[in-house]
Amino acid sequence: MLFTQALQALKQEQLNVDIINAVLTATPDELAELYSAAYQARLKIFGKKVFLRGLIEFSNHCSNLCHYCGINAANIEQLRYRLSSDEILECAKIGSQLGYHTLVLQAGEDPIATHRLEDIIISIKEKYPHMAITLSAGMQSYDTYKKWRLAGADRYLMRFETSNRELFAKVRPGTTLDERLQALEWLRDLGYQVGTGHLIGLPRQTNADLAADIMLLYKIRPDMIGIGPFIPHPATPLAAYPHGSIDTTLTELAILRLALPYVLLPATTALGSLQSDAPLRALSYGANVIMPNISPPALRKLYAIYPNKAGSLEDVSATHERILNLINKADLTADFSRGDSLLATYRQTDTQHHAPSESSH
Ligand code: SAH
Repeated sequence: MLFTQALQALKQEQLNVDIINAVLTATPDELAELYSAAYQARLKIFGKKVFLRGLIEFSNHCSNLCHYCGINAANIEQLRYRLSSDEILECAKIGSQLGYHTLVLQAGEDPIATHRLEDIIISIKEKYPHMAITLSAGMQSYDTYKKWRLAGADRYLMRFETSNRELFAKVRPGTTLDERLQALEWLRDLGYQVGTGHLIGLPRQTNADLAADIMLLYKIRPDMIGIGPFIPHPATPLAAYPHGSIDTTLTELAILRLALPYVLLPATTALGSLQSDAPLRALSYGANVIMPNISPPALRKLYAIYPNKAGSLEDVSATHERILNLINKADLTADFSRGDSLLATYRQTDTQHHAPSESSH
């Protein structure tokens, strides 16, 4: 397929593997056209808004053995921490003082920390009723997700990481893609706004895998999508592999902005950790969310899922300022509202030209 045809189709919110391949092999001039179309799509729906979410990394204990992740259970060199309930509430207070209206509570799969989560959600909602709560605590039982939802959690982030079943089983020993996808369905059934996504450039990931990852996102139609390049961590089985491509990540962001225009799309920390100007480009090509870290400065370097994580050595106000400057530099506007998903309303008001699963591929 020619690039011009692919771009035309994307602008009509169509997506298939041919379109993806045409875009992934585009020339720099063609990519410039793609990026500008993606920017126009974001302007049309979100204007210049970039939503801010305060990120609290509440535990780096993890019972999983994910080959890509630096805090996996087998990494015995990693110092471990777990925030107390009071410490999490202190972070929430700081987030609220900065004016954020979403907190993202992320951690490894840590039964002790997650056991306390219900009470923490209730306390945050009592103190800050207008604050949206996003959880990112990995695989849990249906009943646990339900308990947290009833306690007041609004959203859940859990990437499927890769849509390739064999690769998934290899890099996440003891877990399966199907159970992760099942959990995403439970979350949606429970009324969470659901975020998912994948890693770009995992070892042994092919272009066909990448296209399948993007098609899976298109099929799921999540409220939010988090994608980022794989970054090798020295104390993991994947230490010797190269990192994922920044350019491919940026191109995928633009594809997603066009194919799923309503979606909340963060400029993820992994991009900024590899190249300091990549988040600016992400914002210019369609990303509309940033998650400033509000974890305690002394501990944040311990949430070392990959090395040299951007912002690991900053305090909360330095991170906040850096991100406001970045948004300014992109000629966009920081938005401090909850920034809830537009998926439901977009579906109602825009039925005429997208019917992804049924559309004419
Ligand atoms: N336990 C939670 C949160 C995991 S950390 C869960 O399982 O969902 C959040 C994300 O960081 C992961 O979903 C993964 O995509 C990403 N990540 C982990 N290790 C990484 C690495 N080495 N490079 C880039 N991203 C990584």
